Amino acid sequence: MNQNNRLDAEHALSIIIADDVELTRTMIQTLLQKAGYRDLRLAAGPEEVLQSLAARPADVALLDWVMPKMNGLELCGCIRELDEQSSHYTSIIMLTAKEGVEHLVMAFNHGVDDYLNKPVNRSELAARIHAAGRISMLQNSLLETMRDLEASNQILSELAVTDPLTSLGNRRYITQRSEAILADIDARGGTLAFLMIDIDHFKQINDQYGHAAGDTILKKIASRLRKATRPTDVVGRFGGEEFCILMHFQEAIHCTPDLFERILKSIAQKPFDIDGQQVLVTVSIGVSTYHNNDEACTLDTLFRAADKKLYEAKDAGRNQVMF
Ligand code: GH3
Ligand code: MG
Ligand code: MG
Repeated sequence: MNQNNRLDAEHALSIIIADDVELTRTMIQTLLQKAGYRDLRLAAGPEEVLQSLAARPADVALLDWVMPKMNGLELCGCIRELDEQSSHYTSIIMLTAKEGVEHLVMAFNHGVDDYLNKPVNRSELAARIHAAGRISMLQNSLLETMRDLEASNQILSELAVTDPLTSLGNRRYITQRSEAILADIDARGGTLAFLMIDIDHFKQINDQYGHAAGDTILKKIASRLRKATRPTDVVGRFGGEEFCILMHFQEAIHCTPDLFERILKSIAQKPFDIDGQQVLVTVSIGVSTYHNNDEACTLDTLFRAADKKLYEAKDAGRNQVMF
């Protein structure tokens, strides 16, 4: 930024001046106008300041210490709350006739950035506003960086638990959700049905129609599984051509085989359209269950038990559920 741009940016600082004495407000306004500042707001009291800042934040607030209804220090606390809500930083300068170290300490303890004695000296005011503007610009760019970082972290953590092909949760996500459901069942009761789903003869499908067609089928299966389940069920891609579903029931009695059969049928009942060709695909499903405080059953044994059932389903001729 060259000198002119820097000056222009500085003069664009948004400044609010609060003093219950009109003469003081307008005198400061005139001094700042002469110094080149263009965005100046005047407020006669704390309420006006808060209304104005709620409508549009300021970079710098010059606040009179003593005002009716609420003093400048309390007002400072309210501005900090507003700042917190809007993720913004207002640089606050207290204007006061009070002097002495104890007042200075009190002001800084209330979140004030700087302190200026009345009567205000013109060059000192300009220097303090300059410094306050720098503080607010630095703080606000820091806040913006933190917001960007949070957003990137959010995306990263979603990516870390999402399967890119099907957009379903991946194995890590399934593990996390299973752990949470098991803890919930231990605390509140209920049952978890863990369904391990494996596509039948998928290697042949890849060989016959190509790997890209195989990928399309994986995506379409993901979508059918989503549609065949309740919104509260967790559908994930466990890896390769294996999917899984977590069905959490408040009462064990609601966990019935027809639910699993319905999922099986959602895949087998209708062929998949692959570039105009109708391809019939089936899956095999193994189910294991977890009940309240079953100490012998860990996540690992739950997964393994479903896997064992899945292989029984394969051995029994595929396109079926074993539980
Ligand atoms: P089974 O009925 O016994 O399960 O037979 P299968 O052919 O499905 O089982 P196998 O484990 O022999 O083969 C799995 C195939 O799944 C092989 C592999 O290439 C394919 N596969 C795994 N991940 C993907 C993927 O992301 N995309 C595609 N297109 N194929 C995949
Ligand atoms: Mg497999
Ligand atoms: Mg398979």
